[in-house]
Amino acid sequence: MTFAVERVRADFPVLTREINGQPLAYLDSAASAQKPNQVIDAEAAFYRHGYAAVHRGIHTLSAEATTRMENVRQQTANFLNARSAEELVFVRGTTEGINLVANSWGNSNVQAGDNIIISQMEHHANIVPWQMLCARAGAELRVIPMNVDGTLQLEAMPGLFDARTRLLAITQVSNVLGTENPVKAMAALAHQHGAKVLVDGAQAVMHAAVDVQDLDCDFYVFSGHKLYGPTGIGILYVKEALLQAMPPWEGGGSMIATVSLTEGTTWAKAPWRFEAGTPNTGGIIALGAALEYVSALGLEHIADYEQTLMHYALTELMTVPDITLYGPQARVGVVAFNLGKHHAFDVGSFLDNYGVAVRTGHHCAMPLMAFYQVPAMCRASLAMYNTHEEVDRLVTGLKRIHRLLG
Ligand code: PMP
Repeated sequence: MTFAVERVRADFPVLTREINGQPLAYLDSAASAQKPNQVIDAEAAFYRHGYAAVHRGIHTLSAEATTRMENVRQQTANFLNARSAEELVFVRGTTEGINLVANSWGNSNVQAGDNIIISQMEHHANIVPWQMLCARAGAELRVIPMNVDGTLQLEAMPGLFDARTRLLAITQVSNVLGTENPVKAMAALAHQHGAKVLVDGAQAVMHAAVDVQDLDCDFYVFSGHKLYGPTGIGILYVKEALLQAMPPWEGGGSMIATVSLTEGTTWAKAPWRFEAGTPNTGGIIALGAALEYVSALGLEHIADYEQTLMHYALTELMTVPDITLYGPQARVGVVAFNLGKHHAFDVGSFLDNYGVAVRTGHHCAMPLMAFYQVPAMCRASLAMYNTHEEVDRLVTGLKRIHRLLG
C-alpha cells in the first residue's frame, strides 16, 4: 500500500507556510513535531465547549472531563500494550517522567555503593537525573561505550553489571544518530542481574509500534509533542506492582487519600498518587487525538514510508562534497551531519534561508559530541509528513552552501 503523504500533509496547516520566500521544508520533527488539525481542534474544542477541572467536581462538565482524561489513559495503555491503564502516569514530558523515577523509585532503591548504567549516546534528560541521584545516594554511574559507527559496544555490557547494579536507563532510539538499540535483549540482560530497566522512548514511539510487555521494561517514557501531540504532556509507564510500591514525589491536591494536621497524610493509589495538582487536561485530550491519528494511519505504514525516505536521504546526502554523516546505516528518524569544517550554526542558517528547517547544536547530547570530538552537528529529521522533494531541497541547499563557502 502506498502511503498517502499528501493527504497527511493536508492535515498539518503549518506545512503550507513560506519561510524566507520558500516553501517550508520542516526537517526538525525530532525536536518537536508539527500538529494536525485533529489535535489542534480537539484541544480547542475542549476549551470552547467542555472545559472544567477534573476529579473534584460533581457537576456534569467536571465529570465529563474526568471521564475523557481517564479514557486517554486507557487509550495510551492500548497504544503501548500495557496490562492496565493504572500503569500510566500523566507527566509533562520525558524529562519529568525520568525525574519522577529518579526521585521516587531512585531515592528509595538506590544506596551508597550501588550503580546505575546508562550509555554514551543518551540525551541529557537520561543522564543528568541519574547523575543527581548518584550524587545524593553515593552511587556510581557507569556508561556503555559507543562504536564509531554510532552503535553501542554491546559486548562491553556484561562487564558493567554486578550485584549492586540497580538500573539500566537506555534510549530506544538515539536523538542524534537514529541508532535503534536492542532494548529488549538489553532489558533481559539487566533483569538477569536483578536490575530494573528504564527505556527512554522519546524518539521511538512515533516511528514504530511499541509493546512494553514484549520489551519487558520496568519503566517507559515518552513526550506527546514529538508524537504530533501538544507540548506539556507526556507518559510514564511503570509495571503495576512497582508503581504501587513507589512513594509519592510531589505533594499536593489529588494525590492524597486523607490529610490531617494532627495525623498526617495518606496517599491515593497509583497512578493518581503521582499526579499532584490540576492536570493538563487539554493536553491529555489532545494527546488522545494524536494517538488516534497515528493509530488510524497505522504505525507499520508510517514506518515503511519513513524507512524508504531515510534510505533515499542517506543515498542523496552521500553525494554532497565534504559531508560527514554520523550514525549507522540502519537508523530511525534522524540524520546528523557536518559540512567540511563549517560550524553547524552557519550551515543551519544558510539552510533556513532556503526554507529548510534543521536543528543545529549539541542536541542535548554533549557526551556524544565529545565522543565524535565536535562541538555541534546539523540534524535533519524525517517524519511521516516529509517528502522526497524536501530531501532534494536539503541536498541541493547543502551543495549550494558548499559551493559558496568552499
Ligand atoms: N530523550 C530523548 C531521546 C529526546 O530526544 C528528548 C527530547 N529532545 C528527551 C529525552 C526530552 O524530552 P522532553 O524535552 O520532551 O522532556
